[in-house]
Amino acid sequence: MPETALQPWDVAAPERGGLPSAYGLLPEDLEALGAPGRPEHLFARLQRPASWRDGSPWLSKVARAWFEERFDLGLPAIAESLPSGDGSTKLVLELTDGKRIECVHMPRRVRNPRVTYCISSQVGCAMGCTFCATGSMGIVRNLSAGEIVGQVLGLMRDLGPAQSSQVTLVFMGMGEPLHNLENLHRAMRILCHKSGLDIPARRITVSTSGLVSGIEKLALMQPRPLLALSLNATTDAARSRTMPVNRVWNLARLRQALDAWGPRRNEKFTFEYVLLAGENDTEEDADRLADWLGDLRRSHNLNLIPMNEHAASDFHEPAEARIQAFAGRLKAHGCFVTVRRSRGRDVQAACGQLVKEKP
Ligand code: SAH
Ligand code: SF4
Repeated sequence: MPETALQPWDVAAPERGGLPSAYGLLPEDLEALGAPGRPEHLFARLQRPASWRDGSPWLSKVARAWFEERFDLGLPAIAESLPSGDGSTKLVLELTDGKRIECVHMPRRVRNPRVTYCISSQVGCAMGCTFCATGSMGIVRNLSAGEIVGQVLGLMRDLGPAQSSQVTLVFMGMGEPLHNLENLHRAMRILCHKSGLDIPARRITVSTSGLVSGIEKLALMQPRPLLALSLNATTDAARSRTMPVNRVWNLARLRQALDAWGPRRNEKFTFEYVLLAGENDTEEDADRLADWLGDLRRSHNLNLIPMNEHAASDFHEPAEARIQAFAGRLKAHGCFVTVRRSRGRDVQAACGQLVKEKP
């Protein structure tokens, strides 16, 4: 086994029957390993798909041979590419151990091209939310930093745009990103690195179900992304019923963690609220939600997502009139509400539907 086997960037790669991904390396790793060439230069060659040739980094013969002996220069294979009628594309990716994850390419309908990538952080998810298809799989494993970064590089290479300045990232695919915090953080350091894609941290949103221990650690990390919180209920009893994480960290504790996060100037929290018919969609829920937000009402975005129905859950989307009444009530309380019709519904790429089969 090469000397890389026990290094922090991807300890588990040999267990999965492969070499660690080259895309999980920082310039300082390349330097420590004695890679042939200037570390920042090699890193840039790996991390900028616009400079690649024939779908792979453009490296000298010596450098390529060095990498190939120790690392995997391939990206996760595209098992399926599913274009949706709304312009988004879901990619099903196959990892080296045959496990599958999904990511979504969502161009925004504006004149200059801007694209949001929805990225996965785990295969499956341990959090067990009862409305979510991914949750019904349970956790299979964490993604390595290289596998997280690999999704971004693959989307840029295959679907564009060429310029990373036009890319926005949301960690709203499969998995609970804060349950894989170490690899998420390494991936962010790579994606935000000046010599690589140089994506500003304020264009990366990490969505969490409310893992307070993770929120508190992430608050202190650099680079620090924007935070989205999946709220989805307004009483502890209801939230604990649909989101088991609430049994560990309840609504009051969660609110405390947001206060401690200390949003910077112009930094807003995003809240996601999946509307489940007959479960969390009453006007009293809207009142309690506004109340819970308290002074955050001045600096947030609140996305109402009507439930995307799927076979693994009995919940349904509320009737349109109820959705509008709920949104209207929140607006009356001074909340900044958007009803989000999920993109990619027709190819099962919408929120909470990112699951193909039980592994
Ligand atoms: N695990 C993280 C990020 C991935 S889930 C989190 O929970 O925040 C991304 C979003 O999809 C979350 O806001 C979640 O509440 C929402 N979601 C899950 N299942 C859904 C469903 N069936 N319909 C609509 N949204 C869903
Ligand atoms: Fe996991 Fe998020 Fe789905 Fe909950 S909603 S099961 S945290 S992916």
